[in-house]
Order: sequence, then structure tokens, then C-alpha cells
Amino acid sequence: MAGRLEGKVAIITGAASGIGLGAVELFAGEGARVIAADIQDEKGARLQERFEGRVRYVRCDVTREDEIAAMTAAAASEFGGLDILFNNAGISDRMLTVEEITAEGWDWIFSILVRGPMLGIKHAAPLMRERGGGSIINTSSVAGLQAGFGPIAYSSAKAAVIQMSRVAAAQLSPQKIRVNALCPGLIATSIFGASFGLPRETADKLAAMIAATGPKVQPIPKAGLPEDIAKAALFLASDDSEFVTGTYLLVDGGLTVGPRSAW
Ligand code: NAD
Repeated sequence: MAGRLEGKVAIITGAASGIGLGAVELFAGEGARVIAADIQDEKGARLQERFEGRVRYVRCDVTREDEIAAMTAAAASEFGGLDILFNNAGISDRMLTVEEITAEGWDWIFSILVRGPMLGIKHAAPLMRERGGGSIINTSSVAGLQAGFGPIAYSSAKAAVIQMSRVAAAQLSPQKIRVNALCPGLIATSIFGASFGLPRETADKLAAMIAATGPKVQPIPKAGLPEDIAKAALFLASDDSEFVTGTYLLVDGGLTVGPRSAW
């Protein structure tokens, strides 16, 4: 049976670990050829080796427009065009309050989480137009929807990603390019570990934490895994979501439904 992304070319940023890595594995398994972009060269090289011929690692720091332009150009030169962009790269932020955050710290977070995806869209759109359309997925977060899930700059940036996706969806619709945001809940990756003081990425620790406090707040009391988000990204990337644009997909085990007392 043909894969759901057979014949498609995808770029995934932040591809060397966590959700991005899960997406590379899933997308390549579904028949896509993938430009895996990150700043972790060793992991990237190993990924390219694992998927010889299907995945090409490209170093791309999403704060740099020249590297984003080179990343999108690589999709055309290596695989002949571009159909899917998964703007996934991200960093965690220390839990700074509005009184502690600096102007530089704010700009740094926004340069990675908002400006990076915006530049990705800007450079990807002309290539997608040549193919008659495409799908762009921008990673937001539950932190972009509700207070209490992240620091102020991170949360504000993730909210901006949702609105940027809506506006880009409206602007790019004549070119048959769909744009959506994806909002993960608590997912066992290194970002989550850093935010909550866990020494390294471990689904077991996150599962234990959710089991201890989670059933009160998360209706599906398991650790979210990178593949849970990769599967949602696959839906948005594939033609299965051909009638879906300008919205966000929340994948959080029910974390944001509200306190249990209100059920
Ligand atoms: P992760 O740390 O495992 O992966 C992030 C990847 O982004 C890393 O490979 C890192 O090298 C790369 N990266 C960082 N800065 C970069 C830059 N300037 N240019 C290019 N690549 C860069 O974390 P993850 O949880 O897989 O995060 C993926 C996305 O999901 C992020 O946007 C994050 O904010 C978002 N997210 C994560 C969670 C969670 O609980 N893990 C929840 C909501 C949203």
C-alpha cells in the first residue's frame, strides 16, 4: 500500500531530537523524502545515514535567514521541490516572570519560535506554489493557549504562532497552500526535561509526574510521546486534512479541558 506521503518532499526543522525526530521517522516511513534541519550536526549526520537516500540533513539555525534560504533551496536541489514544511524547532526558556525577563531574552525566544517559522514560510511558499500547493505546520503549544504552562516569552511566542498561522493561511490560500498550528501538551522530550528540571528526556519520569498529579488535570494520564505529535503532524501534512487550514490542532491528552472538579 502506498504511504500517505508518497511522492512528497518535506522539510522538518528541529529534526535531530524529540518531536522533530519522531516526525522524520514517520514521514519517511510514509514515503516522503525529507530535509532534516537542525543545529546538531552529529545527530543529523546519523539520521541521514539511517535513512540513506530518503533523508538529507541540512544544518539550519532558524534564527538565520541565509540558512533558512539554503534549507529550502536544498529541498529543490536534492529532491526536486517542496510540498510540506514542519516548522518545529524550538527551545525551552527559564521560568522568568514579566519582571525578570530582559529585552534581549524576549527577542531571542521570539527569533527562534516566531521569526524562524515566519522566514520558513516566506522561503517555502514560492517552492510550494511551483508544485501547485502545499502544507505548512507551525508548532505552537498548550502554553500558547493558556497561562500556567510556560514562561511569559515562550507562551507569548507560541500564541503568536497561532495567529501567524491564521494570517498566512488566508494569504496563501489562493496558492493552495494550507497553514495550521499544532499545539502539543506535555511531551517527554529534552525541552520538557529542561523546563521542569528533569535531568534528561524520559517518558518514565513524565509518566510518573502525570500519574502523581495528572489524573486530576489530564484526562488521559500518560506521558505524551514524540510520536503522538508526529502522528498529528502527519495528518496536517497529508491530503487527509485537505479541508483544514488556518486553525490549530490541540494534542494534549485533554490537559486543557479544565480542572477535574469542573467536569
Ligand atoms: P527537543 O529539544 O527534543 O527538540 C528541539 C529541536 O530543535 C532540537 O533538536 C534542537 O537542536 C532544535 N533547535 C533548537 N534551536 C534551534 C535553532 N535555532 N535552529 C534549528 N534547530 C534548533 O524538544 P521538542 O519537545 O521535540 O520540541 C519541538 C517543538 O515542540 C518546539 O517548538 C517546542 O516548543 C514544542 N513543544 C514541546 C512540548 C513538550 O512538552 N516537549 C510542548 C509543547 C510544544
